[in-house]
Amino acid sequence: MIHKNITTVFLILFASMGWSQAKKIVILKPIKAKSSFFTLVERDTLQTMVELKTLIDNLQYELRYASKHNFTGKRMYPRNMHTTFLRLKPAIALAKVAEDLKEKGLGIKIWDAYRPYGTTVRFWKLIHDERFVANPSKGSGHNRGTAVDLTLVDLKTGKELDMPTPFDDFSTAAFHGAINIDTMKIRNRVLLKNTMEKFGFLPLETEWWHYSWPGASAYDVLDLSFKALGSKID
Ligand SMILES: [Zn+2]
Repeated sequence: MIHKNITTVFLILFASMGWSQAKKIVILKPIKAKSSFFTLVERDTLQTMVELKTLIDNLQYELRYASKHNFTGKRMYPRNMHTTFLRLKPAIALAKVAEDLKEKGLGIKIWDAYRPYGTTVRFWKLIHDERFVANPSKGSGHNRGTAVDLTLVDLKTGKELDMPTPFDDFSTAAFHGAINIDTMKIRNRVLLKNTMEKFGFLPLETEWWHYSWPGASAYDVLDLSFKALGSKID
C-alpha cells in the first residue's frame, strides 16, 4: 500500500514536471537600452548596426511590416519607415552582393532585415505557430541583425523579377527545392541564392527570400527601436 502510494506520488510529480516543462517558455533577455548597445559597439565594432542605404547604392526598401501589407494584416513597425539595419559583416557582404548583381543590371529590394525582439513577441502572440513565425524563446536572426528578407529588381525599370511566390507565402512553392514552377522563376530564385551564397549568406530551405549570416549566436538579441539605432522616421 505504501509502495503504491509512493508510486502514485512519483507519477503525479513526473506528470506535473512534464506539464511545467511543456508550459515553460524561456524568455530571452534582449538588449533594450541604447546605452548598453553603444557600449557594446565601442568594445567590438563588429556589433555595429549599419543602415543599409548608407553602404549600398540602388537599394530599394519595401518594408512590409511598416504597412499592413504583410501576413499579419497589421502594421508592426512605425508608419512609412524608410530605414533598416544589419550588423557590420552581413551589411558589407550585402554590399558585395549588390555590386555583383549591378553588373547584370540587377538590384536588391529589402522586405525586412533587423526586427526588434518586441516585434517577434507580437508575431508570436498573433500567430503562435513555429512553422510561420520565430519562437521568442529562441530569438531570430532578424532580432540579431543577421538575417535579411529580399528579392531581385531590374535596375532599369525598378520592377521585381518574377519569383516562385510572393514574400511570406508559406506554401511549399516557396521552398528552394520546389521545381514544378515556371523556368524563369526558378532561374531568378537560383540567381539570388547563388549570389547570396557566393558572399557568405546561408539560405533557408522553406523561404526563398530569407538569408542569414553564419555565427548569429555571436550577436545579442536586440530590442531597440529603429529610431534608437539612428533611423530617419518620417
Ligand atoms: Zn526572414
